[in-house]
Amino acid sequence: MPPRQSARQKAPLAVAKVEKQEVLAERKKPAARVARKPAVVETEEVDVKLTTTTSSTTTTTTTTKASVKRKATEAPAAPKAKAEPVDSKPAPKKRKTKGKEEDTMPLTERTAITALKKAMYIGAHVSSAGGVQNSVGNAVHIGANAFALFLKSQRKWANPPITPESLSGFKTLSKEHGFDAHKHCLPHGSYLVNLAAAEKEKADQAYTGFLDDLQRCESLGITLYNFHPGNTNGEPRPEAIGRIAAQLNKAHAATSTVVTVLENMAGQGNVIGSSWEDLRDIIALVDDKARVGVCIDTCHAFAAGHDLRSPDAFEETMSAFSRVVGDEYLRAFHLNDSKAPLSSNRDLHANIGTGFLGLRAFHNVMNCDKFQGLPMVLETPIDRKGPDGKTVEDKQVWADEIKLLESLIGMDPESDDFKTLEAELHAKGAGERGRIQEQVDRKSAKGEKKTSGAATGKKAAAAAAGSGKGKQTTLNVKRGRKKKEDTSDEESE
Ligand SMILES: [Zn+2]
Ligand SMILES: [Zn+2]
Repeated sequence: MPPRQSARQKAPLAVAKVEKQEVLAERKKPAARVARKPAVVETEEVDVKLTTTTSSTTTTTTTTKASVKRKATEAPAAPKAKAEPVDSKPAPKKRKTKGKEEDTMPLTERTAITALKKAMYIGAHVSSAGGVQNSVGNAVHIGANAFALFLKSQRKWANPPITPESLSGFKTLSKEHGFDAHKHCLPHGSYLVNLAAAEKEKADQAYTGFLDDLQRCESLGITLYNFHPGNTNGEPRPEAIGRIAAQLNKAHAATSTVVTVLENMAGQGNVIGSSWEDLRDIIALVDDKARVGVCIDTCHAFAAGHDLRSPDAFEETMSAFSRVVGDEYLRAFHLNDSKAPLSSNRDLHANIGTGFLGLRAFHNVMNCDKFQGLPMVLETPIDRKGPDGKTVEDKQVWADEIKLLESLIGMDPESDDFKTLEAELHAKGAGERGRIQEQVDRKSAKGEKKTSGAATGKKAAAAAAGSGKGKQTTLNVKRGRKKKEDTSDEESE
């Protein structure tokens, strides 16, 4: 049900305006992106419930160890969990602080890859606060076999270089814990960088920040570097894609080993990378094909209209990817469920199994042979309300989701175990899915109304003639504000 698209088909004249609206929304995003996990009160309440979900349902799979045992005792409290802050659990855990004690006691053991029926390396985007070396311990803490991190503050342009201590610490710890940084570490690029920027000054700034990250990767022995392709900012798409590729070529020439991994995106309008074709077009212009790859974000793919839910839909989506982009470019995954429906173009990550994708989609992913060996990174919400009303991170959510995903490998999707797990998680996400569905419906209804009005209105005629710009801007500013209200919990990771 892609209402926005049908609205567009009905009245092409409105397209220009809709796209402008996107520009405004995009410009506002950096501010919202500053917080990697924006605090949204409404979401928090539901998410608190989800914590219990994952734990209790993981229990039914019987694959988890210590963490589940502890959590199993909490499961009966599920119905009331909405008001119960996660931190009131009996387990004494240090939160809020990024102190080291928190991470020295693993929440769960890492699963030996050899113990899995398929070699799936699952982890999460962990914190690197205090230095990149801390990301290793944070990954171990949640039982991850792969991890993502920011190599520097993703909200600042200027960052001090990696200290020698961080550098050697990262390498030593990676080795000690058996992480292959070449394969299973997937740093995430800065949200500030737009390699499609047309203006020289902005393009240069983006390039400098980008290259600096690639150099950091090489000094750390990291091979894969994931980033968002960019935004046209309203400029023609082919040129914007050409600029991205030119920046990549320049960056590849200035470095030697790191592979630049394009992430598929959820949005429409000016966002580049929501279609497989965008990714293909960028890759086509990259000189050294060995230095470019793709990371598929399951939430973004779904929001952009690529279904993954049924085995058939999954097969169709993946064969389209093979056909258009090519399997040889697939280098990584971001595993996120989606709070927004198919083709909604909303980037709203949900906990695994609780979103519109549902557990079956992840069963499809986890049992696909060709994904073996790729880093798979969770970027699911873990922010919860603490007892003092402050937002805290509950990393147990990731520890449980990793085990949950691992348990899907080789699981019979027709079995009672699977069906029960699927239904439980689905039920837990009902409130949040309903809330977002309502927003999407409201927006599409509004879009239809405006489109039909614009088709006959004077403004549309003026816009078509390329005049009346002033008026349109006022209109768009208003819409931009409205959009922000509607999508205040957009994450964009
Ligand atoms: Zn995202
Ligand atoms: Zn991302």
